[in-house]
Amino acid sequence: MKRSNQTKKVKDNQVSIKTGDRVVVISGKDKGKVANVKKVLPQLNKIVVEDANMMTKAMKPNPMANFQGGLIKMEAPLDYSNVMLFCQKCEKATRISYKVLENGAKTRICKKCNEQLDV
Ligand SMILES: [Zn+2]
Repeated sequence: MKRSNQTKKVKDNQVSIKTGDRVVVISGKDKGKVANVKKVLPQLNKIVVEDANMMTKAMKPNPMANFQGGLIKMEAPLDYSNVMLFCQKCEKATRISYKVLENGAKTRICKKCNEQLDV
C-alpha cells in the first residue's frame, strides 16, 4: 500500500458530540445558548447540556439517600439535532468535518475555519 502524508477527509454524516464539548442550542426555549455538554446518551440520540432545557421534576423522598423529596431542577436531554458544536474561533455554531491525522487518530475540525475542535 502506498503511504501518503495527506490527511484524508472522512464522512461527516454522523454527529459526534462528546461530554465536555461546547455546543450551541439551536432550537427550543434555550435557543442560542452556548454551554458545555454534561452527558451524552447515544442510545437515545440525546444529549444533556448544562443549564439548558431545564425542567422541574417532583422527586419522591428517598430515605436511603437521605433525600427528603420535593421539586428539583434538572436538565432534560435534548436531541442531537437540537445542538451544534460551537467553534471558539468562529464564535458561532459550526458544521464539523473529520480529519484523520498521520498517526491514525481521528479529529474533528470546523468546516469553516478548519480549526481543530478536539484538544
Ligand atoms: Zn471555526
